[in-house]
Amino acid sequence: MSTLRDVVIVGSGPAGLTAAIYTARANLNPVVIEGIGAGGQLMLTTDVENYPGFPTGIMGPDLMMQLRAQAERFGTEFVTADVDSVDLSTPNAFEARVGSDAYVGKSMIISTGAKATMLGLSNEQRLLGHGVSTCATCDGFFFRGVEIIVVGGGDSAVEEANFLTRFASKVTLVHRRKELRASKIMQDRAFANPKIEFAWNSVVTDVLGDNTVEGIRLRDTETSLERDIAAKAVFVAIGHTPNTSLFQGQLNLDANGYIATIAGSARTSVDGVFAGGDVQDHVYRQAITAAGSGCMAALEAEKYLEELAHRA
Ligand code: NAP
Repeated sequence: MSTLRDVVIVGSGPAGLTAAIYTARANLNPVVIEGIGAGGQLMLTTDVENYPGFPTGIMGPDLMMQLRAQAERFGTEFVTADVDSVDLSTPNAFEARVGSDAYVGKSMIISTGAKATMLGLSNEQRLLGHGVSTCATCDGFFFRGVEIIVVGGGDSAVEEANFLTRFASKVTLVHRRKELRASKIMQDRAFANPKIEFAWNSVVTDVLGDNTVEGIRLRDTETSLERDIAAKAVFVAIGHTPNTSLFQGQLNLDANGYIATIAGSARTSVDGVFAGGDVQDHVYRQAITAAGSGCMAALEAEKYLEELAHRA
């Protein structure tokens, strides 16, 4: 029988590690099952200039190492493995299984994050953080006065294209069809923006550049003709997938598959199970909002455990 812990944290991005710092400092001896690819989306990022407290910026992986060290300093235990399955059916004995080991918590904090959908091109992967980005809020500032590509036709792509015109000399929105999926009001804004051009019926077949992005190669879906467009950055905005497959059928998820939390809290549909970070947020998706909601999850877990102790 596995030891019953106060709190088991699944996921190790800014949300999970902030939850660990708070619960460790509250003497709750958290265990973080951090995953094989520990650290979340910031591990795929280069400069982070908008995380408060670092006036000259910090590299994404360095920030994650510092958060991890801070959690470790207060006694957080780490398991470097992926969770194979969870069982949330027994109240106050929530189980995360890793191979033949089970980590059981009176409470659980889920912070498994989300993945940006990528085009699946090898040069896109190679130049990620060197001109290829999945976050305009994070990286737009680095590309002032240059030409930028945004890929996608939904609200995210159109919103990012509009936002990026603050910095870019020109934004080309590349979409694989002739009409956008984005809401009418967002489309109207983009059509009225003189800095935005559209490349319709176009799929990206390659990202060009040796060490940094120099452009993209497009194929016209109707004529199959290929052409290159020069640009210093490519923002891929073709959707995100929350990492919630472990929780399907055990927690309420929203229509897009994100964990549904009770408004203004980190509480999920199961008492004692909390969620923080991008796994429950498809709006803000920032390291700092993830850290903030990880803190909320930790404080709510603390309060929950205190009430549980009084009930016993
Ligand atoms: P989305 O609505 O699913 O749109 C994804 C877009 O990417 C679609 O235009 C799709 O093309 C394209 N796409 C998908 N896979 C592709 C591929 N492999 N290659 C090229 N293009 C590809 O995703 P989203 O824009 O991230 O929005 C997600 C949700 O958040 C939506 O419900 C959206 O309304 C909401 N949202 C709202 C706001 C806002 O209201 N301010 C802002 C952002 C997001 P097709 O059109 O051909 O399928």
